[in-house]
Amino acid sequence: MSTINTHKKCVCQDTQDHFLSRAFESLDLDQAQRALLLASFRETRVNIPLRVNTDGTDRLKTFMGYRVQHNQARGPFKGGLRFHPDVNLGEVRALAQLMTWKTALIGIPFGGAKGGIAVDPLSLSSRALETLSKRFCQKMGPIIGDHVDIPAPDMGTGPQVMAWLLEEYSKNHGFSPAIVTGKPLELGGSEGRLEATGYGVAYLADKAARRLGHGPETRRVVVQGFGNVGAHAALRLAELGYCVVGISDITGGFYKESGIDVQKAMMHVSETHSLKGLPDCEGIDNETLLTLPCDILIPAALEGTVTCDNADKIQAKLIVEAANMPLTHGADEQLRARDIAIVPDLLANSGGVLVSYYEWVQNLQEFPWMRETVLRRLEERMAEVYTRVAALAKEKQVDLRTAAYELAITRVNRAVELRGF
Ligand code: GLU
Repeated sequence: MSTINTHKKCVCQDTQDHFLSRAFESLDLDQAQRALLLASFRETRVNIPLRVNTDGTDRLKTFMGYRVQHNQARGPFKGGLRFHPDVNLGEVRALAQLMTWKTALIGIPFGGAKGGIAVDPLSLSSRALETLSKRFCQKMGPIIGDHVDIPAPDMGTGPQVMAWLLEEYSKNHGFSPAIVTGKPLELGGSEGRLEATGYGVAYLADKAARRLGHGPETRRVVVQGFGNVGAHAALRLAELGYCVVGISDITGGFYKESGIDVQKAMMHVSETHSLKGLPDCEGIDNETLLTLPCDILIPAALEGTVTCDNADKIQAKLIVEAANMPLTHGADEQLRARDIAIVPDLLANSGGVLVSYYEWVQNLQEFPWMRETVLRRLEERMAEVYTRVAALAKEKQVDLRTAAYELAITRVNRAVELRGF
């Protein structure tokens, strides 16, 4: 296990630094306080050797795994685990910081962390992926724990990977469902966790659209990215009466003016593993998708997909950030200058970690809740926080993102001060 302190700054860190500095200025925090709040508690990098079968021969490959634990002033470290070829320390660090602000904003007693392995999960067999996940857990064993650091799914991972981590961790600690969240229901996962992030995104998109004076009747929605979050957001918005005119994944974009049947698209993905060949829709490229005529745009793919190069062509009046950091700060500025409302990531997609918290609580209490209870509590909490952020934004004449960061930073800063160092 090695601990790394420095790494080239990545684009998402640059973006977050800009967003944070707007809030820091508004809060009048001095340089020393800012530095303390930005520093990671611990950054761990492990290498994981694995024999991978390519073309019938076993070849040795070494994968890099990361866990950045940013801040634990308000509770145990919490955050997802990403399997993607582009995972690197800089990205994981920026995403770990975002988790600290997200858990503080939504008011759950966790800090922030993020981890990942630089791997394309689709390039490995299920057996190889299981071994890789379990070896990662072995190597991270000393720094995780159900009251220390609790991983969850993120891009490229899901309930199955969480089940493998649970198994590996439980070998040394006894059955420990609270070590991970986003588990399969059979192993102590929570009702509603799988759809929680997308459900919360849809809930806030609807709230924000109504606030702008529009109901579902006239609303056209475009969702970029059709993974767990994007698909469930699209599904829920369709259930609420919105017309989902565009969706996309890495194979391309799909458009239908009269509305895509989201349920059918989800079935198509579960059968064929992608949206490729989706019937009854016009195929378009991903760039065109972002600039389609629509009312609500939901970027639910990777970070940094909306940039200064395409922001001016966006026609939506409302953007709800389902992905983490989908907008570069330059794009954010351009869009705000055009009066396009933005519900920021730390608020919009916080339903995922919120229900992770509910799952953790159910595991510790050994008492599962009903789906209705989980979703009702999700809606109640998100509504409460949205109202608070909107009120602060109005009071201070700032955008929703700056207000959200201000609330979060104030809470973390206070916890740090109270605990001393
Ligand atoms: N990966 C999700 C996020 O970025 C969920 C994290 C969690 O549930 O701990 O918010």
